[in-house]
Amino acid sequence: MWREGGVCFEPMEPTFEGRLERLVEAGLDGRDPGREELLWLLQAPDERTLDVVAAVGRVRFAAFGRRVKLNLLLNIKSGLCPEDCHYCSQARDSEAPILSYPMVGEETFCAAATRARELGATRLCLVASGRGPTEREVEQVARGVEAVKAADGAMEICACLGLLGEGQAERLGEAGVYAYNHNLNTSEEFYGEICDTHTFADRRETVERARGGGLSPCSGALFGMGESDEDVLDAGYALRAIEPDSVPVNFLIPIEGTPLAGVNRLTPQRCLRILAAFRLLFPRAEVRIAGGREVHLRSLQPLGLYLANSIFIGDYLTTKGQAAEADLAMIADAGFEIEGGGPPGERELAGVALKQAVLD
Ligand code: SF4
Repeated sequence: MWREGGVCFEPMEPTFEGRLERLVEAGLDGRDPGREELLWLLQAPDERTLDVVAAVGRVRFAAFGRRVKLNLLLNIKSGLCPEDCHYCSQARDSEAPILSYPMVGEETFCAAATRARELGATRLCLVASGRGPTEREVEQVARGVEAVKAADGAMEICACLGLLGEGQAERLGEAGVYAYNHNLNTSEEFYGEICDTHTFADRRETVERARGGGLSPCSGALFGMGESDEDVLDAGYALRAIEPDSVPVNFLIPIEGTPLAGVNRLTPQRCLRILAAFRLLFPRAEVRIAGGREVHLRSLQPLGLYLANSIFIGDYLTTKGQAAEADLAMIADAGFEIEGGGPPGERELAGVALKQAVLD
């Protein structure tokens, strides 16, 4: 309260729209939106989620227009991991019934790259289980990547092989790997709750090692494991400090046989608010809706496209995604375009196929 000429003035509470507008302006300018304001956004009432999506969507459209980048994931080595990430079906203590296999051959790398092109994906993400790659595995990946690049030089390759050793990022880069994914996953404080075999600092060091070796850093988070709103923001700010070029946002798929089986703390609205907060923290980086999109956003998936500019198409590591054709139809129906143009005629065909499936 203050006085002017004997009149008392009460400070006006900023309106919901006013606070949202200030966040959007910060995002458009590339400024830090402010922790307190992001906390307010995360805790916005469910019935205001559409307002949040519409407003923060302006930041997405300013940087990326209506483009959606598609990424295809290939699990190049599955299971039998000595680490104990509680969310992971491939962890040493997991009892999830998954396929276990050693590193796949070059022909599988090439077949996945061909499938990626058919679907309009411009990035192929090669993911291997394990604490980190051996020198032999790095060579195997390098040979697979060289084979892909010989056939399709424009295919962007991201490798995700765990904690990197000295010189490994450089070798992958020489072979044609463009990006390296290693997620920080959650806040430093909460990290001990989800893994005992490596630390948050180990993860951060690998992202720095990837960048130092000339690879584009891809690092994101996983939500729904019991973290608080403060943890969500700690993770967001820790990621912002390492300046990733791409930021996958995963939502926990609580897989039977893992310690987090049955944990379901997410709603579609909460997922959208997390995506909105991440869009504001990373206004010009690629924000990707990654694992758990179908499980947690469900019928609100298209709204996620107003915040994120990138998705995985097809399946995840050890769980199924929705059919690629349904993703393509969703993108077209929501009025977005596939980055890189997409496969000619594929979107229209997908739309027809989906309509037919509904009619049948
Ligand atoms: S290191 Fe990777 S593969 Fe191993 S348990 Fe953790 S997330 Fe799973």
